[in-house]
Amino acid sequence: MIKIDGLSSALMNAAADAIIVIDGKGTILKFSPSAALLFGYSPDECLGRNVSMLMPPRYARDHDGHLSRYFETREPHVIGIGRDVEGQRKNGSRFPMHLSVGETSIDGESMFVGICHDLTAYRDAVHQLSVAEQRYRDIIQHQSELVCRLDQNLNVTFANLSFGQVLGVSHNDVVGTPIDRLVAGDGDTFRQLLISLFKSREEIEQITLKISMKGSEESVLVDWTFRRLPASEAYGLEIQGLGVDVSERDAAIDRANFLLNHDHLTGFLNKKGFIEALKELQGDGNRYALIHLDCENFGLINHRFGFEAGDSIIQQASSRIESLIDESVIVCKAGGDDFLLLLRVENDTDVVRFVEKLLEVMSPGFVIGETSSINLQPFIGIALCPEDTTTIERLPEMAEAAMLSCQKHQRSYSYFDETYHAELRRKLDLEQGLRAAIAEDRLSLYLQPKYELKNWNVVGYEALIRWDDTLLGDVSPGEFIPVAEQTVLGQHLDRYVIVKVLELISQHLPPSLRDFDSAEQHMHIAINITAKHFSDPSLADFIAENLRRYRVDPREICLEVTEGVLMTPGENVSENLSRLRALGVEVAIDDFGTGYSSLSYLKSIPADELKIDKSFVDDIETHSGATLIRAILSVAKAFHLRVIAEGIETEAQLKLLREMGCDCGQGYLLGRPAPAEKMLNAIRPFETTKV
Ligand code: C2E
Ligand code: MG
Ligand code: MG
Repeated sequence: MIKIDGLSSALMNAAADAIIVIDGKGTILKFSPSAALLFGYSPDECLGRNVSMLMPPRYARDHDGHLSRYFETREPHVIGIGRDVEGQRKNGSRFPMHLSVGETSIDGESMFVGICHDLTAYRDAVHQLSVAEQRYRDIIQHQSELVCRLDQNLNVTFANLSFGQVLGVSHNDVVGTPIDRLVAGDGDTFRQLLISLFKSREEIEQITLKISMKGSEESVLVDWTFRRLPASEAYGLEIQGLGVDVSERDAAIDRANFLLNHDHLTGFLNKKGFIEALKELQGDGNRYALIHLDCENFGLINHRFGFEAGDSIIQQASSRIESLIDESVIVCKAGGDDFLLLLRVENDTDVVRFVEKLLEVMSPGFVIGETSSINLQPFIGIALCPEDTTTIERLPEMAEAAMLSCQKHQRSYSYFDETYHAELRRKLDLEQGLRAAIAEDRLSLYLQPKYELKNWNVVGYEALIRWDDTLLGDVSPGEFIPVAEQTVLGQHLDRYVIVKVLELISQHLPPSLRDFDSAEQHMHIAINITAKHFSDPSLADFIAENLRRYRVDPREICLEVTEGVLMTPGENVSENLSRLRALGVEVAIDDFGTGYSSLSYLKSIPADELKIDKSFVDDIETHSGATLIRAILSVAKAFHLRVIAEGIETEAQLKLLREMGCDCGQGYLLGRPAPAEKMLNAIRPFETTKV
């Protein structure tokens, strides 16, 4: 048995790696505690046995042969070299280890000292590392951004899959290629920028830029960030590029931005874009003409032929306009069929010449479908800067007012006119104000009494609306009713008054006056209905529904309509008339005599009352005036119509009307319109001494 001194023994005990000493025949002479731990044998189980017991069979078999070959040839395979080999534990499990073997001789006998370093943990770590690397590689390869690395010559040293896919190049073609060769167009600036990133070590570490790169079919806009990397031993100085394909995104943003200020159909500026363009010209000292072109009946075309035909006509109109203008003209497609053009002009002749050309190009028919064509009547409004205003932004509203005046007077073009503009403004104010006043219930109901002239009894009242507006002041119905009549507001107003009157009757008319069994006592409240509303098919239903709701007898109301409505009755007017009269609602012909009507219509119109207009009453004291009223009275009598004279202001007028046999009268002399509730609380016969 070999002797081991104290130091060697201490080394064997302290070593973390397993130490095994064998003789020339492979017999284990020493087996350190760490070897016991590694192989799972106790030293006693190993000492004196062949070292091959610690090896997997295929190595074990050859081990003795290796030893004897070594003694013969002295050519080492492991000794002094070290090798990664496999060990086998007592339990049969195998593990990787690094074996270093040293040879020595004690007392002339060869001995080998083997140091076994367990490689299990190391191998595991290496494996995990390669798995992790593969994972990162996959992430980089498959991420949608383009990733690349460039060397100092700007050659691509790495490119991920997206890089190849987006730019339509194979991986092999990319690696080794200078990146500026992949730029669509001139890549020189790009190249200089990237080179500067290598040069200016400290100041700039990163560059961001959008550049168009060659794609497989068309160019691709890539938003790049290039970053300089710290120099590495393996690759030297490199920069890394991260790119995003923004071609579609940028195209969509560009389109969205374009549409913010432009009309999608014609590509002309829209109103917003146009106003912005105008603002930029404010105060530049030039003369401008703003032309507002509107094509009449365009709305009807949409309605009759569909929106596609409408769009096609707008496009045809826009190309005709384009044929007339150069870049100095700013064009806007403002609404459905309105075009605004801002021209820089020297004098009035320039304007007229342009307008005439515009009218000329718009005059041929516009094509609809394959064969049809349609003519549009163009109306052109013109406003001038600085003549009409020095505030260029105000030109569009002025030109529009001029265009509306054209439409009204059926002229093809017209210059801005301050008076007409003021009228238009007032009309708009009235429309807006009235809409709000109806919605907020800010209108007051007044009543004016109607008297029976033979006994001075009140036979009814006419409901007249009053509007005292916070902003517009006291506005007369004579002004706002005609404005309301032009829109749906007339109908809103009528319905508002109908409900107010029914409410009033149900809540404030004394029950004694609502008793229809005593014919002497009952009375009605007359409601004026705007012309357009009387042809609304839902009017009769609305009235019937509300009569029921407020429990009002239909005979307690009378509807006043002007003769014009009755003279040219459409289907709905006749239907409404017969339905209302069937319900029991009375109908009066208002302002009789003012509509230049033919009397023949009275034959066919079922009405109950005829109201002689004030203008006739005013003339009653003249011979011809008196003759006219007598004629009206006899016509009315022939058609069994009750007659009431409006606007009686003097005792003389009243006296004459009585003498002529007029049934009823209404006017300031008999009673002025007064707030409804107040009027109903003070019903009394007319007191007169003079008549
Ligand atoms: P209208 O229906 O012919 O009403 C008669 C108008 O003559 C009323 O004017 C009334 O105040 C006025 N008047 C009555 N007696 C005299 C008089 O002796 N002398 C003078 N100078 N005028 C007299 P108002 O209230 O200004 O209404 C004007 C028109 O506005 C009405 O003419 C009617 O067509 C319309 N209107 C008034 N209220 C309403 C309403 O509630 N609904 C509708 N749809 N129209 C209304
Ligand atoms: Mg009336
Ligand atoms: Mg009247």
